[in-house]
Amino acid sequence: MAKKFKNCSSCNQFLSESSFYSDKRNNSGLSSDCKFCHTTRVRHWQKCNPEKFKSDKAKYQKAHPEQTCAKTLRWQTKHPGYCRAQYQNYMTRQIFAMPSWVNAKDITAVYNKCQAISKRTGILHHVDHIIPLRGKPVSGLHIPWNLQILSAHDNCSKSNKFICEKVA
Ligand SMILES: [Zn+2]
Repeated sequence: MAKKFKNCSSCNQFLSESSFYSDKRNNSGLSSDCKFCHTTRVRHWQKCNPEKFKSDKAKYQKAHPEQTCAKTLRWQTKHPGYCRAQYQNYMTRQIFAMPSWVNAKDITAVYNKCQAISKRTGILHHVDHIIPLRGKPVSGLHIPWNLQILSAHDNCSKSNKFICEKVA
């Protein structure tokens, strides 16, 4: 099949149709501007409207926890080095947020219980910090009574990306 071309309404270049995102609102089924122009426009808008962007993103993540988790997992697969470093930082913070008087066995028990629940129910569960370790007004501790077991769905709805995948 011959390659089809289309004019971008922003940069005015004739580009192959694969250079355009699909958009059902248009007769052509494609967006009027090319992927590059579209992305540039969206990035610019995000930069000019950081608060709106942040709240829209949070709203979307809350309404679509599965897609959000899947997207994060795809991103993590593409950026293993970054994720490993983040995980290491997170673990280090957990160690520093764990007072010396805490019995590590009590914490392990919560994680074991979480795995057992996931296995028994067939629904992935995560261990979550009730008061986040990196909270804004106050930071929680890595202690048994600051841990709760949530379904992955509920945990991801809290939109703390990192905890959502790594502390399973
Ligand atoms: Zn363009």
